[in-house]
Amino acid sequence: MPDIGFVNGRFLPLEETTVSVEDRGFQFGDGIYEVIRTYHGQPFQLDAHLARLERSARAIELPLSWNLQQWATYVCDGIKQSGYPESKVYLQLTRGAAPRDHVFPASAKPTAVMTVREMKPMDSALHASGVAAVTMDDWRWGRCDIKSVNLLPNVMARQKAKQAGAFEALFIRNGQVTEGAVSNVMIVKSGRMITAPEGEQILAGVTRTILLELARKEGLPVEERFVTRDELLRADEIFLTGTTVEVLSVIRVDGKAIGPGGSGKPGPVTLKLQAAFQRLVG
Ligand code: PLP
Repeated sequence: MPDIGFVNGRFLPLEETTVSVEDRGFQFGDGIYEVIRTYHGQPFQLDAHLARLERSARAIELPLSWNLQQWATYVCDGIKQSGYPESKVYLQLTRGAAPRDHVFPASAKPTAVMTVREMKPMDSALHASGVAAVTMDDWRWGRCDIKSVNLLPNVMARQKAKQAGAFEALFIRNGQVTEGAVSNVMIVKSGRMITAPEGEQILAGVTRTILLELARKEGLPVEERFVTRDELLRADEIFLTGTTVEVLSVIRVDGKAIGPGGSGKPGPVTLKLQAAFQRLVG
């Protein structure tokens, strides 16, 4: 089965898709996106992802092209056409093609694109062992709640993390841990789960919301507040949440071993929540 592409309501093989070089997404990063995955062939949390797409579009005054029901139909059609056992859907909406000028064009039509590729799950060994992370200055813009295609700081951070032998970069702004380059960050300290509050400094992760619910169901006290880098390094456990990482233990930060007794191993709360998440999607 081919990878599926989609441009403005038309499905076609991915390699045949094109957009204008004058597209504002390309020239200004003037656009937004979503990433949705399937479990058992069904899009996971589709409504939550589309609701966030709508919030992001509204925040940058971008018309949505279609109502959410039509978007949902296109996503489901794309998944069906791909025929993959599991798919990863990328949606992007930009302010369209127009002669280059910062001001919104009077007449450009938004460009809506979608790709559907096979979802290859993360190496299960990483989920079992946990991963290393490094902290990094959060020099992103002030509206990280908007899922904007402007990902240069995230790209730079993830590359630096890779060069340091780590999986994820954890952003720190004004001394506070905000989130990862591709994930939200949770710590466990003295039996409490703590994560940054929703607001302009983080993306309101769909997986984050699910983990907050799962933690509450497990009777784990939850705090939504920022932690300092020092608190992060002294955490009993740290884990990441996200569509692609699911629930992923962090066992080393800036070279310091995290985990029960500084073991550098995933902790019991993370393992419990990881299992609860797998039950939910399995
Ligand atoms: N934070 C950032 C910066 C992200 O890019 C992502 C996912 O792409 C997340 C958090 C996690 O969000 P979600 O759980 O909706 O995938």
